[in-house]
Amino acid sequence: MNITLKRGKEESLRRFHPWIFSGAIQHIEGKQVEGSLARVFTSDGEYIATGHWQIGSIAVRVLTFHDELIDNSFWDSRLQTAWDMRKAIGVAGREDNSTFRLVHGEGDNLPGLVIDVYGRTAVLQAHSIGMHCSRMEIAESLKRVMGSEIDNIFYKSETTLPFKADLGQENGFLLGGAADDVAVENGLQFHIDWLRGQKTGFFVDQRDNRSLLEHYSRGRDVLNMFCYTGGFSVYAMRGGAHTVHSVDSSAKAVELVNANMELNFPGDSRHQAFAEDAFKFLQQMDDGAYDLIILDPPAFAKHKEALRNALKGYTRLNLRAFEKIRPGGILFTFSCSQAVNKDQFRTAVFTAAVQSGRSVRILHQLHQPADHPINIYHPEGEYLKGLVLYVE
Ligand code: SAH
Repeated sequence: MNITLKRGKEESLRRFHPWIFSGAIQHIEGKQVEGSLARVFTSDGEYIATGHWQIGSIAVRVLTFHDELIDNSFWDSRLQTAWDMRKAIGVAGREDNSTFRLVHGEGDNLPGLVIDVYGRTAVLQAHSIGMHCSRMEIAESLKRVMGSEIDNIFYKSETTLPFKADLGQENGFLLGGAADDVAVENGLQFHIDWLRGQKTGFFVDQRDNRSLLEHYSRGRDVLNMFCYTGGFSVYAMRGGAHTVHSVDSSAKAVELVNANMELNFPGDSRHQAFAEDAFKFLQQMDDGAYDLIILDPPAFAKHKEALRNALKGYTRLNLRAFEKIRPGGILFTFSCSQAVNKDQFRTAVFTAAVQSGRSVRILHQLHQPADHPINIYHPEGEYLKGLVLYVE
């Protein structure tokens, strides 16, 4: 199909921004099938981009700004570039790390596609109908590019696609099958539940921040709030923490953190996990019980409309931690809401600090790791932000 833009609406595309909003479209020629390829033209009839079309506010996700075919060699070239980059930045091709993000959507010029690698299994996730429709071509290309590095490709898109499209999407293996579910991150082992887990089964994006936490853990009493698979907890244990408590409202997450602890520190009584609500736990815990606290909640704002409440939520949560953390304590606090920017998050935490009356200093400003790159033309790709604070 061909799409013609309204006059002037090509401006953002000339700056290589990869989204076309539905309001920018003048008219569409050809059969309108969601997920199909659209060639896009300016109002003067000049070719400007090719991308996947679907119904919604973001109508086209641009795959290329060159007039080229989206065929096997296109997928091979995009995936090869992504794979070469992961080797170049030192997250892939390592004995002690088999867990990394191979494709980060717009950050790898593949809007709508996420691929995480866990040992010998790649988990492929479509966030657009076009990527869903192309999943077999992508899987075949991935096998060509990564060769003997992977045996299995698991497709996990049941919850990431617009359900109204009724694509009959099912999670399952596109290549290989039953696989060893243990992957290695910086020498630590983790069970990855790609079948039922959140996202692609693990939060790969906290790898560097977990390493930093390990560095601050020695002798400390650690509270890992919103622990999920217990990533931060396992690093704290290796860092020599005195005690580590992991909290998540999901009983399934508590099972996961216990299983991961058994893998790395079997029978180590320094660790305990609790299935409880974060706000309740923080309210009820003793003053000064912990001197290293991690707050890594789920996205409080999934979209712009929820922003005000989300910021209040961050303030309320951080206030609890400021009120209770032992003097000389360190707080790792995060937001993964894309709708909340770095400054807004910092203001929310600042407000909590003021209300607590504690003396608070910023030691580090954290963000997503290098295998979650931000396309410079798509600043919306920046989502993870964190602060490491010293609380007197
Ligand atoms: N820190 C984790 C990722 C956190 S994901 C990591 O490094 O992998 C967010 C987690 O918060 C989920 O596991 C979810 O079950 C949990 N959660 C959501 N609401 C909660 C609440 N009110 N109290 C405690 N945990 C909650």
